[in-house]
Amino acid sequence: MTIDSLNFTYRRFHKGMTYIIMDACIGTKDASCVDVCPVDCIHPRQDEPEYEKVEMLYIDPDECIDCGACEPACPVEAIYPDFDLPPEMEKWLGVNADYFK
Ligand code: SF4
Ligand code: SF4
Repeated sequence: MTIDSLNFTYRRFHKGMTYIIMDACIGTKDASCVDVCPVDCIHPRQDEPEYEKVEMLYIDPDECIDCGACEPACPVEAIYPDFDLPPEMEKWLGVNADYFK
């Protein structure tokens, strides 16, 4: 079992679900998802200085309420719920969480 798999298992049974952003965001990064998030957990926003420095946006797993509003808002299908990830994509759970450490 990989570290990512362990993280996935921990989150699923102890913290709850989250949505995550994957590398399909790179090259688009249009912040459409930010506009629809009811809890402001997708960063950096366009009004934050870090926005110009990052290649993609990230979802804070501790703040995401799993509402799903961001998923259909993304024009490149870069957003997925963590319970629907193929094993090779589980690394993006850690990538999103690490941005907020
Ligand atoms: S699932 Fe909802 S709360 Fe979570 S990032 Fe998307 S819009 Fe925000
Ligand atoms: S809507 Fe999709 S492409 Fe746009 S910033 Fe969000 S995740 Fe990236």
